[in-house]
Amino acid sequence: DGDPALYVPEVDDIAAWWPRPVADDNKYSRGVIGIATGSDRYPGAAVLSVAGALAGPAGLVRYAGTAIEQVRFHHPPAIPTDRVADAGRVQAWACGSGLGGDERAYTEVRTVLGAPVPAVLDADALTLLVDARMADWLRDRDAPTVVTPHDGEFQRLAGGAPGDDRIGAAVHLAERMASVVLLKGDRTIIATPDGRVFVNPTGTPALATGGTGDVLTGLLGSLLAAGLPAEHAAAAAAFVHGLAGRLAAEGGPVTAADVATHLRPAIRSLWST
Ligand code: AMP
Ligand code: MG
Repeated sequence: DGDPALYVPEVDDIAAWWPRPVADDNKYSRGVIGIATGSDRYPGAAVLSVAGALAGPAGLVRYAGTAIEQVRFHHPPAIPTDRVADAGRVQAWACGSGLGGDERAYTEVRTVLGAPVPAVLDADALTLLVDARMADWLRDRDAPTVVTPHDGEFQRLAGGAPGDDRIGAAVHLAERMASVVLLKGDRTIIATPDGRVFVNPTGTPALATGGTGDVLTGLLGSLLAAGLPAEHAAAAAAFVHGLAGRLAAEGGPVTAADVATHLRPAIRSLWST
């Protein structure tokens, strides 16, 4: 609509932003991502978010939560620990998918909010943010935060549905929460607290299936851990997630695990088009 602060990234933008290893890198210098997702009830959310993180540019993936056995089985490279507080060195957190809403989940989200590193909060973490003390801890953070609501989660966070002006609604929530907002949809919107907006052009309805959001959370966290600014991490994750959905759909109906599998060829395609 001619708004100069509105930007639709192209493949060359994402390729330029995407961190790539250099000769003197090691696994730590590439970034350490901590994944605090899943629960006994929802172990799949942990497996999918770790899958998303492992496809990203960070050099090491830590998993903190109760789905340790499932994560170990599906993703041998991930380093498991019981709690966020004893995860060791982590340079960004991805938190919330399938976490549940019990006392343990509350403690883990609070610990993530208290960590002086970037974080992406999704799903059950967003539900817990409605708590007034959690909202205070979020505002007190001095590292960037990305929140990734779908419409229902947006409605709980904002106290109302996004409505027809999805861009305006996302900017308003970003200002109010002092966080980057990634509002999911056909055209996912990324809004910053200072009013900049990215609109993702790669969406596909093939992504409208359970668990794809968990894959996005892990990938976005990995980009944060690798040092991308929060709004670029969010825009790049949405872009590649959409590409992966399109690639997966070439093989037939898509599951979230398929989207995770296709992240790697999607990333590779950034430099081959
Ligand atoms: P979640 O609801 O958390 O599982 O996330 C769903 C993911 O799929 C998000 O990345 C959405 O942007 C994406 N998605 C859902 N429905 C559609 C759609 N109709 N078109 C494009 N992307 C979609
Ligand atoms: Mg979700």
